[in-house]
Amino acid sequence: MLEDAVDRASTRPVGTHRLPPPPSALRGRIVVAAVAVGAFAAAGAGQTLHALGSGSDSPSDEVTPLASASEGAAAFGVGGTGPASPQVLPVAKTVDPAAEAQKLTKSARISEDREAAEAESKRPKYARPAAGEFTSGFGGRWGEMHYGIDIAGPIGTPILSAADGVVIEAGQASGFGLWVKVEHTDGTVTVYGHVDTYSVRKGQVVQAGEQIARMGNRGFSTGPHLHFEVWNPDGKKVNPLSWLNAKGISV
Ligand SMILES: [Zn+2]
Repeated sequence: MLEDAVDRASTRPVGTHRLPPPPSALRGRIVVAAVAVGAFAAAGAGQTLHALGSGSDSPSDEVTPLASASEGAAAFGVGGTGPASPQVLPVAKTVDPAAEAQKLTKSARISEDREAAEAESKRPKYARPAAGEFTSGFGGRWGEMHYGIDIAGPIGTPILSAADGVVIEAGQASGFGLWVKVEHTDGTVTVYGHVDTYSVRKGQVVQAGEQIARMGNRGFSTGPHLHFEVWNPDGKKVNPLSWLNAKGISV
């Protein structure tokens, strides 16, 4: 039996028909696989695939499944230089949502800090203590010394701290009825007399322009007005108008 087979093989003419070719559909798939694998290797070198499948009995099956190396590469989703190549996203674009959120929070905080600093730098550091009519200046009046300026207006007109500082008095005062005193950072003290009501307490920190009281007619007063004094760091009463003007505030 074995000898018969060997004999038969050896006697078969060399180079003539071998096994019959597989059905064309199946063979097509085999060629696709072969071409695709070839494309994977050939894509980088830009080789064409016409050599693949040579030896087939039917030349028309050789290259029809795939037209070019780049298409073969595209089918595999790797490599290739043609327009059909898939896009590969760079790994660097990968983001960590938590880290991104943290970055945003940090940037928002920096922005808030910057805005706060900007607002602080733009904030007025001095203010006119009340709106109203300037009715009396600093100096001798009716034979006696007037140690402040008077600004007249309706009862209830807001009275504002003339500068940043700390409230050192808020309450009753002889002659002034009710008063508020604010000490500023350089030791200067401003005094607000005859107030109808006050809205701060001793020890409270206030800013320039912050409302501290309302205009009144208490104490020795001939009509609703604010009596405003400025005491320099040595305790000497100075002309409030000059002091305000020096700070850029006109009355
Ligand atoms: Zn006065």
